[in-house]
Amino acid sequence: MKRSEYEALALEFRVRLAAGDFPEGDEWLSVPGTSTCTTPNCHAFGVTCAVRFHENADGVYRGICGPCGQPTEVKLTLEDG
Ligand SMILES: [Zn+2]
Repeated sequence: MKRSEYEALALEFRVRLAAGDFPEGDEWLSVPGTSTCTTPNCHAFGVTCAVRFHENADGVYRGICGPCGQPTEVKLTLEDG
């Protein structure tokens, strides 16, 4: 999926969430991406994992490192970057 296509879907989805319409399970919009730990003393530091980010009403994607519990650097994986 291209970034522009995903963003159009995400905009619609956020409007839905803002209106209090929370879809079930698979209907929840998500996007593939990667999550990389940036905590220097973590044993997973610099390790990049493939994940799916679920859309939030605020349009911010959050990743948490499993081993250290700190926020990770997140990147979406879309056809055009
Ligand atoms: Zn970590």
